[in-house]
Amino acid sequence: AGEPGTGVRARPRLTVVSGPSGVGKSTVVAELRRMDPTVFFSVSMTTRNQRPGEIDGAHYHFVDRARFDELAGRGEFLEWAEYAGNCYGTPRQPVLDALASGKPAILEIELQGARQVRVAMPEAQLVMLVPPSWETLVGRLTGRGTEDPEVVRHRLAVAEKELDAQGEFDALVVNTDVKQAAAELLTLMTGTAVRKPWS
Ligand code: 5GP
Repeated sequence: AGEPGTGVRARPRLTVVSGPSGVGKSTVVAELRRMDPTVFFSVSMTTRNQRPGEIDGAHYHFVDRARFDELAGRGEFLEWAEYAGNCYGTPRQPVLDALASGKPAILEIELQGARQVRVAMPEAQLVMLVPPSWETLVGRLTGRGTEDPEVVRHRLAVAEKELDAQGEFDALVVNTDVKQAAAELLTLMTGTAVRKPWS
């Protein structure tokens, strides 16, 4: 627990950031890592194709389905899910190691995975990043241009379901401005800046 009477909460050990595709999770998390490089960021495994500009081992560990299934079968994922026809999973050990060394850790994952973390690690803090409006989200998803229309349609349908799950989360952060959203997220992670300057 935090110190009594100070209004400062105990530091959550693990933070899960979720939210619909296109809301800007990766951008906000990248900004947060610039603001505080000591935060441990979990690099997921995925079976989806590498996008231009993505670095294997930095953005994701890109693996084939056989390898993914093998790791899943051995119970090496803290959580994993199928999303838009591909598999995504969080390697368990690196997260546990980071937490054991006292580092706050962050996972950027979709809803089904967030729910699994809720069960596996009830002390985790679940944060949903939401767009300022539905129209903003549609605009961002359509404008990305790296996915075919069928994939965009599917992601919008999934996004709607994800937004409907807001009530399952401990906190919402509205992504109107990347720097502000990252700062809010960092505050939620570290519990700093809770006290007003005059208190
Ligand atoms: P993208 O293909 O656009 O990089 O990611 C698609 C979705 O998968 C995003 O919502 C992203 O947050 C989520 N995702 C990325 N890594 C993981 C993971 O390890 N587990 C789960 N459950 N979702 C993930």
